[in-house]
Amino acid sequence: MRAAVKTGVDDRLGSNPPGSGGGSLIQFPSQGNRQMIERVFDASPLALCILDPTLRIIMANQAARDILKAKRADMSKASVLDILPAAAGLLQNCLDLARKGSGLPDRRVTWQAAQYHLSFGVTRDVGGNVTELFVAALDVTRRARIERQSRDARRRLVATSRRDHLTGLLNRRGFDAVLHREVRRARRDGTALSLVSIDIDWFKAYNDTLGHPEGDRCLRLVACALLASSPRAADSASRFGGEEFILILPNTDLQGALAVAEKCRLALDGLDIPHPGSPKGRVTVSIGVCTSPANWELRDDAAALMEKADRTLYQAKHRGRDRIEVAEAH
Ligand code: GH3
Ligand code: MG
Ligand code: MG
Repeated sequence: MRAAVKTGVDDRLGSNPPGSGGGSLIQFPSQGNRQMIERVFDASPLALCILDPTLRIIMANQAARDILKAKRADMSKASVLDILPAAAGLLQNCLDLARKGSGLPDRRVTWQAAQYHLSFGVTRDVGGNVTELFVAALDVTRRARIERQSRDARRRLVATSRRDHLTGLLNRRGFDAVLHREVRRARRDGTALSLVSIDIDWFKAYNDTLGHPEGDRCLRLVACALLASSPRAADSASRFGGEEFILILPNTDLQGALAVAEKCRLALDGLDIPHPGSPKGRVTVSIGVCTSPANWELRDDAAALMEKADRTLYQAKHRGRDRIEVAEAH
């Protein structure tokens, strides 16, 4: 015999004994058991509601009444369409799925600033027709808040792990992530992707003559100048290593990248940071500019682009520093 599920809010629950041909598989217990089940049903911390196939409420326990701020008398035989019209579509969808024999997926809903996890079930008559729809609602507001907080904390942690704490620019890890993303995007869209590599000249001598704290200050100044010189939202500036920086310039051809490099140089000239250990007497940079080919080929991946950037920067150093070199097209 099936487990009995009933309390006496609806008349038909008490007047439809087993075997009477009423159709429902719900079996009806004795009066004593019935009161006990009613008490248990009402005491459940889960909000429980039983509906008929027309979305009329057969019964709702205390927790469900609390959520809906309704009295027992208001709920009896009331329709969801009147009491909670916003839920009608969702519940109707459950009934439709159940009629097709599909499973009823759990749902999360927000109602009056609280979040609920909803689970559903149905009972059927001997012919397989849906006779009742059960809804169980668990208040997960607190759990959802904790989940959101831990998601936010994780996101902050990832963001922090990708930033250089001295300059606030992306660090090497952040650079790698952005470069790979932008290479994939550029290949997909068939757009140009350019890199501008910048290395401070004679920086060891800067530290040696002015001290490490001044060196740090200089790195921050250079970082600010680079950021100001690549203002497009898609551009990103990274501190690649010690005193080397790289700008990633999506959707930018060689000419555009060269313009950005010149802006960087101008910005640094404007700062005019004294450098007693440099033959120029002020902080200068060497810059290598390179771009992806118009048609991305298989080998033109992030590593190949980086190799080109590195080679070009080396040329700028080799040819006297304080200058911009542009990679040859291939
Ligand atoms: P070049 O013109 O060939 O680039 O010469 P360089 O002296 O700039 O290059 P080198 O690689 O010999 O020296 C880089 C120096 O950068 C060494 C190190 O003292 C300094 N450096 C690296 N990271 C930091 C940092 O976080 N803070 C400070 N203050 N200095 C740093
Ligand atoms: Mg250097
Ligand atoms: Mg260097």
